[in-house]
Amino acid sequence: MSKGVLYVVATPIGNLDDFSQRAVDTLKRVDCIYAEDTRHTKPLLMQYGINTPMRSLHQYNEQSQLETLLNALDAGQSIALVSDAGTPLISDPGFPLVREVTKRDGRIIPVPGASALICALSVAGLPTDRFVFAGFPPRNTAQRQSWMQTLARQESTLIFYESCHRVVDSLSDMLLVFGPTREGVIARELTKLHETFLRGSLELLIERVQEDANQRKGEFVILIAGAACQSEQRVEVDVEQMLITLLAELPLKQAVALASKMTGMKKNNLYKQALKISQA
Ligand code: SAM
Repeated sequence: MSKGVLYVVATPIGNLDDFSQRAVDTLKRVDCIYAEDTRHTKPLLMQYGINTPMRSLHQYNEQSQLETLLNALDAGQSIALVSDAGTPLISDPGFPLVREVTKRDGRIIPVPGASALICALSVAGLPTDRFVFAGFPPRNTAQRQSWMQTLARQESTLIFYESCHRVVDSLSDMLLVFGPTREGVIARELTKLHETFLRGSLELLIERVQEDANQRKGEFVILIAGAACQSEQRVEVDVEQMLITLLAELPLKQAVALASKMTGMKKNNLYKQALKISQA
């Protein structure tokens, strides 16, 4: 008996119309669909008239279910793996299964579709030739900051996933680690009703998110320009040294105005720093 096929099927990241015909045909044909959350996937299956039996495969049972799934494939059953949104395995369950099937030389067929990181990157306006997908930042502040440090000199565009609960914390640490002038894009609620793109320096982005509660709602992809891209666009400057030089020649207000023009940084942030220097 020939072994069954494992299909890894992408689902929409918001707008259910983004489902492909091939994905629908595949899900109708397989013996069983393994979904991250069957309640979440149900409306999608109903919209497309898919009646295939569904079981759950999530991060808490994917190890214990592995043997059952491998046995089903060995017995010739065809299985589709889907996650709540986008492409399975991309910050989603499925890696242990795919790893094991590839080790056994089993058949795996990808049925591609949406993934939030590619969707965001395609319209971010940041270099796309090289990028690093970093996934979700650690939840703990100290761990997050040292994790971000390891990415600070990365020359490729950086891509992060983040939830509404930690978007402000993560942006604050990015400001600290990557600096206020580093360019970024916040892609929120992609393909959904409140789809929004914020573009600008990290300093500007965090201000926009802090001043508008709506900008803290939903799901986020945060993209940050790579270090090399940054230095191409703008010569890295030692802001403190610039202020010291300007303050030696000009009154505080003028020095701040000039530094703001030269760096693109907000006047009130520069003002605080200039005040400290002039009082030292
Ligand atoms: N497998 C998915 C993919 O291929 O994009 C990602 C799943 S991961 C558990 C969920 C995270 O992806 C969210 O917290 C958010 O960072 C990002 N994401 C998913 N859908 C999104 C959307 N419509 N808009 C913005 N970000 C989204």
